[in-house]
Amino acid sequence: MSDATWRAVLVGFSVCAGLSVGSFLNVVIYRVPRGLSVVRPRSFCPNCDRELTAFENIPVLSYLVLRGRCRTCSAKIAPRYPLIESATALLFVGLSLEFSRDPRLPALWIFVSGALALSVIDLETLRLPTPIVRWHFGLVAVALLTSALATESVKHCLVALGCMAFWGGSFAIVAFVAPGKLGGGDVRFAYVLGLTTGAFGVGTMLVGYFAASFLGLVVSLLLIARGKMDTKQPLPFGCYLAAGATLAIFLSPLLPARFQL
Ligand SMILES: [Zn+2]
Repeated sequence: MSDATWRAVLVGFSVCAGLSVGSFLNVVIYRVPRGLSVVRPRSFCPNCDRELTAFENIPVLSYLVLRGRCRTCSAKIAPRYPLIESATALLFVGLSLEFSRDPRLPALWIFVSGALALSVIDLETLRLPTPIVRWHFGLVAVALLTSALATESVKHCLVALGCMAFWGGSFAIVAFVAPGKLGGGDVRFAYVLGLTTGAFGVGTMLVGYFAASFLGLVVSLLLIARGKMDTKQPLPFGCYLAAGATLAIFLSPLLPARFQL
């Protein structure tokens, strides 16, 4: 298959997969913090409790056709739903274009999906639910291991594991030395960040590590300066961690070759 055809197929797949995964992330974001199952019942209108039909469940399209309202009770559907679906699709397409021939691509799709869901939940609840962090870690680890086996690269595995130990371990130490600064969820999440960015080399991991802290600091200072936050308020640090790591992955091909894997 020529490169252009392969990329076109990959982009088409990424749009469909991204929208469908985004739709599932909406379910996860709504239900997991409320202690509800993500499997049952089927999607329903939170206002009138009516189960949604297949037609009302099409990502983005249903929202546009229904003009953002429930068909029965006319309750507004939060624009967050189509936004998360579109954002997932955009991330999938961006990664597919940048890593079109890279065996680590499926691991990256899984990584950004989990990172997006966790970021939104952290913004809303200031928590990173442990079951999601565990699933995220497990699925990313399996996908990365599969790609490493496919390419028979033991070095990749060792570097990724080292980066995982560095990012997760350093956060665990901070959480132990200065209790209250980092939540347990942030520490658990840090292991998957280290593993994923580390799969692209130590340079990518360090860019992610510092970008996350820098983003957190700059955004907090801006919010404090504008009087929208006070210094004692807890920070949805998971958002900045996810953003920093994702940014580092997108930047990784630009790093000097000796910092790449
Ligand atoms: Zn309704």
